[in-house]
Amino acid sequence: MTEARIPTDLPEKIQHYIDGAFVDSVDGGTFEVLEPVTNKTYVHAAAGTKADIDLAVAAARRAFVEGPWPRMLPRERSRVLHRIADIVESRDQRLAELESFDSGLPITQALGQARRAAENFRFFADLIVAQSDDAFKVPGKQLNYVNRKPIGVAGLITPWNTPFMLESWKLGPALATGNTVVLKPAEFTPLSASLWAGIFEEAGLPQGVFNLVNGLGEDAGDALVKHPDVPLISFTGESSTGQLIFGNAAPHLKGLSMELGGKSPAIVFEDADLDLAIDACIFGVFSLNGERCTAGSRILVQRSVYDEFVERYAAQAKRVKVGLPSDPTTEVGALVHPEHFEKVMSYVELGKTEGRLVAGGGRPEGFPEGNFVAPTVFADVPSDARIFQEEIFGPVVAITPFDDWSDALELANNTKYGLAAYVWTNDLKGAHNFAQSIDAGMVWLNSNNVRDLRTPFGGVKASGLGHEGGYRSIDFYTDQQSVHITLGEPHNPTFGKQ
Ligand code: NAD
Repeated sequence: MTEARIPTDLPEKIQHYIDGAFVDSVDGGTFEVLEPVTNKTYVHAAAGTKADIDLAVAAARRAFVEGPWPRMLPRERSRVLHRIADIVESRDQRLAELESFDSGLPITQALGQARRAAENFRFFADLIVAQSDDAFKVPGKQLNYVNRKPIGVAGLITPWNTPFMLESWKLGPALATGNTVVLKPAEFTPLSASLWAGIFEEAGLPQGVFNLVNGLGEDAGDALVKHPDVPLISFTGESSTGQLIFGNAAPHLKGLSMELGGKSPAIVFEDADLDLAIDACIFGVFSLNGERCTAGSRILVQRSVYDEFVERYAAQAKRVKVGLPSDPTTEVGALVHPEHFEKVMSYVELGKTEGRLVAGGGRPEGFPEGNFVAPTVFADVPSDARIFQEEIFGPVVAITPFDDWSDALELANNTKYGLAAYVWTNDLKGAHNFAQSIDAGMVWLNSNNVRDLRTPFGGVKASGLGHEGGYRSIDFYTDQQSVHITLGEPHNPTFGKQ
């Protein structure tokens, strides 16, 4: 039975939030927002254009130039960020319900993401207070120190997968460091972004510091990227969009941080604990509906354990529970949007010609409608297959055998992406050597996607540009101005006194 459970108190419309007020688009334009279980339109959202971006940037700029936020002491900003975290935590269930309804994520996983969003604010609230910049002193002669300054209006552009959490990942550090922001969330999932406005107001964030413009990437997103008063853009989304943004930001030499797509390998060696590796590789690609940038969507398995792995993995994939996003027992929910569903299904069909289907391969039984895809496993996938090379971003995985460490490395590095990698082996020395040679911004050794917030997050090759996370986020969202003072007698070299 595929009936969406509709949360109470859904908004009648989703608006922009500019200079402390919810507003419609200047031209009155809207777009339809679908819920992924039935694909029915449940709300209309304001469709922002350049005119709305101009208003939002002007408000953020005013708040930056005239308002208290950039001038507050770090510990004062920190208190506001902690209040934001408190509010998110106290409403985690409700936020998860709305996120799950809007995006199709299983409710239990949406709840985990809401809690992580609170953690992101708490983490940067603490970091901004703890952070001490270096001062270099030559006694009696010189003092040099680093002055970290907020940069201005930060443009934040986010995707539709785990939207609330990913927005917190940018909002937390951008605000902690004293910037003001304009957020352009993904058009498939605008619901949870609009909730930030109320949370921020309640926490005491000054007017104009947070601004939100909904709308399509080519309209609102493009205008934000090209706006001359927005000196930095933090973008998460597809690699091809990242390339476009890179070009559009170039004339202004904007600061850019890009978290892009992935096709991350999970490499299973013959000496690995297969029970652990199979569980992790199941979770690694099917959690969050497979709509996860770090999904381990290519599994490379050493030939001596390959047949056993494939058989056990396929059996377990068939037991993954697909269900309504609102059902707490659901492990895979509905994909975000019919367009994305069609894309994933086209890869499923392609996979049948490129590999050997051993689980799934279409809609799960009992779900004739909505964006449901059975966890799908292809074995014996050659490395030149498109399902090996291209990001599918759904519950679909390709398994490929390898012979030895060098074969594994070659296969692992054989895509344009370089976001994450997972290595399963009991040979620790080998694992560390492997980690150093692999083209990936993040490597998990016998571990599955657990990341301390202090460590950098980001990819290499087509998976990204720059890293955020921990102090890297503080670096990205601040200018580091160095100041040099002579303490003793001026001893600066000079000319013209001979
Ligand atoms: P997308 O690139 O289609 O859209 C992302 C955002 O960019 C949206 O808000 C969209 O409206 C906006 N946008 C689109 N065109 C634009 C333009 N010309 N100018 C400015 N903004 C524009 O990505 P998506 O489909 O929403 O998200 C899925 C992708 O995000 C996947 O590739 C996934 O791997 C990636 N992702 C990466 C990470 C990471 O940290 N590396 C995390 C999550 C998702």
